[in-house]
This record gives sequence, structure tokens and C-alpha cells, in this order.
Amino acid sequence: MKILVINAGSSSLKYQLIDMEDKSVLAKGLCERIGIDGSNLQHTNIGLDKKVRIESAMKNHADAIKLVIDALVNPDYGVIKNMSEIGAVGHRVVHGAEYFADSCIIDGKVKEALEMCTPLAPLHNPPNIIGIEACEKIMPGIKQVAVFDTAFHQTMPAKAFMYGLPYKFYEEQKVRKYGFHGTSHKFVSREAAKLLGKAPEELKIITCHLGNGSSVTAVDCGKSVDTSMGFTPLDGTVMGTRTGSMDPAVVTYLFDQGLDSKQVNTLMNKESGVYGISGVSSDFRDLSEASKNGNKRAQLALDMFTYGVKKYIGAYAAAMGGVDAIVFTAGVGENDNETRAAIVDGLEFMGIKIDSEKNNKRGTVDISADDATVKTLVIPTNEELMIAIDTLNLVEE
Ligand code: AMP
Repeated sequence: MKILVINAGSSSLKYQLIDMEDKSVLAKGLCERIGIDGSNLQHTNIGLDKKVRIESAMKNHADAIKLVIDALVNPDYGVIKNMSEIGAVGHRVVHGAEYFADSCIIDGKVKEALEMCTPLAPLHNPPNIIGIEACEKIMPGIKQVAVFDTAFHQTMPAKAFMYGLPYKFYEEQKVRKYGFHGTSHKFVSREAAKLLGKAPEELKIITCHLGNGSSVTAVDCGKSVDTSMGFTPLDGTVMGTRTGSMDPAVVTYLFDQGLDSKQVNTLMNKESGVYGISGVSSDFRDLSEASKNGNKRAQLALDMFTYGVKKYIGAYAAAMGGVDAIVFTAGVGENDNETRAAIVDGLEFMGIKIDSEKNNKRGTVDISADDATVKTLVIPTNEELMIAIDTLNLVEE
């Protein structure tokens, strides 16, 4: 079966068509500037290694989906003869709140629940829902599946997801830790189990998704039992431009200093993190170069990042009563061997030790030293494939 994976943003739409026979990507692309002047589609036929850019007005997401289908069936650069070859569509949805502990086939009731999640992700869920409705319109009769960033973390126990606020804030307003990047943590923890030749149920794994946004998850017996992001993706480690955790009184202090909630929101999400600390960049390659050229604040930003992730590894090993494997993934986790080395440096007492030569390799690789008792793995994430696998499993049930 061929599955179309859709990730709809407010003015963009990313897609991949995946052949589930061999899990290969047949085509992928991106619609940009939907609803804005200058909208265009960038489409790649992977087999032919052929890229095309189509400038075409897209008033809305339905126009974008129509253009994607036209590209997929195009005789020159398409990959299918007609739309009926698409067996199902898997949609990335950011927030499933407590309604969704797993992926699900979309029907009227699911759409109602999706609307109810919107106050928790006002920027992200509405475009996801628009993408679903656009597909329903253009591809009637083809099953649509929703895959949530939050769902994998719904197995966290209350002691991990509750905040120390009065209980009514949870009951009435659903203020709690949700966690994000769930599709990635699920994918790499399962791949890690495969690599180690064990069932996920036999393992305690700490997955470190380190990119522009970063989160660390404790995966015990295949289930998320704690994660570093919280009510929103702002919590946890210092990130590219986000603060990560800090004393919440800093926020009220900033209000008292005259900043309003919009300003504080922008400050904490877009102007902080390693970017705000270094004043250089949010990109770890730039930070590394600046630090090597003597920039002390760039080095401080890197140190804060690695120290923060190291502390989560220690905390989650304690929470699970041990750890069998540490997994690094996403832009920084997959590519930045220096940052990986700095994170695990000093954790030899826990049995975590990497081999510096293996740490220079790329792709899926076991970078543990021979005498390490805890495995350290690098596993490239593949959220699109995880969405397609969940979609296939549901439509075949
Ligand atoms: P992501 O959010 O997963 O796409 O990760 C993006 C981030 O990964 C970038 O902002 C960089 O900081 C980092 N990154 C990507 N490639 C490299 C690399 N070769 N070395 C160090 N960091 C990298």
C-alpha cells in the first residue's frame, strides 16, 4: 500500500508518498506561501532524482492538496498513475491532549475532539485540521489517520505529568505536562530495540531528540514514563531559541518590569536559548565555530545545553531504576559528535561510555565503547515513516 503523509502548517504543507512494501519514499515535497502571493510547490521524484518547482496560486490548503495530487500523477515527474493508488493518508497533528493516547482513523467524533484540543495548541492544531478537511474534500473515500505529537506520552503516570498547582487547574483547564516529539521518541525507541535484538518491553531507554527544539524521554518497557517538554514545547532543556525550564517567577517578574504576555512569549520562544545566550546563532555548527574562535558566550551556550541534557539522563535513569540504552536523534543528536561526547562525558560511573572513533560515524550506529554496560546509539529519526506505519496498521485492522 502507498501512504501519503501530510504535515500541514499555517501557510505550508509538507508531504511524502511512502510505499509500505519496502518503506521507500517515492516522492516528497513542500507547498509554501499557501494563501499568500508567490505560492509554490517544490516536488521531488526520489527514484528519478528529479526536482520541480511549480509556481501556482494556492488560495487555501485544498488548492495545495490538489496541486500535490497533480504532481504525484504527472507523467513526467509523478510516481503514480492516479489518485486511487493512494491507500490512506496519515496526518501529523501536534496536540491530542488527553483525548488521544494513540493514532486513530478520523471520523466526525475525532474531528470534534480535535477542535476541543485547539485551545492547547492554538497556532498548530488549526492548520492540521484544515489539512485534514482539505484531504477529505479532494480525496473522498480515502481513509485519513491522525498521528499526534503528544500521544506517545499519554502513558506517563500522574506523578510525572502533574504540576504543583492547585488540582482544579488540571481538572478545569487541563493544565499538565503533555510532552511533544512523541512520534520521534516512539520511532527511535522501537528502532533501538530492533538494533539491540530485544523487545521494547525488555528495555529502559532514554531518547534524546536534540534539534532546534529538544526533548528527552524516559521510555520504560516501550512506554513513555516521563519527558522533558511540558504543557508546551517551551519546557525542558535550553533549546535553539527557547529558554527551556526556569523558575516561573521570572515570568511574573518580567510582567512587573512592564513586558506584556505577547512580548514575554516572543522573548522566551524566539529570542532565548543558545541563540539568546550566545548572541551568535541557534545553529550548533555556528556555535562550535564561534567557540573555537574564542567566543566565550558561544561556549557557555553549548555548556548549558550539554549540562542540561546530561542532568535529564541522570534523572530519568533514577526514575526508571536503571537504563539499558541512550539514543541520540534529530539535527544535533544525529550530526554533532562533539555535543554527544560532551553530554555523556562523566557518565562512566553509570556504565555510559562512548568510543570516539565510532562517534565520528554517520547514520544508525552503536557508538558505545566495548566496556560500556549501557549502550549509546545514534538513530536518525523518521517521523514520516512512523506516521505511515501507524496509518497502515490502523487501516489494515
Ligand atoms: P532539527 O530541528 O532536528 O532539524 O535540527 C536542526 C539543528 O540541527 C540545526 O539548527 C543545527 O543546530 C543542528 N545541526 C544540523 N546539522 C548539524 C551538524 N552537521 N553539526 C552540528 N549541528 C547540526
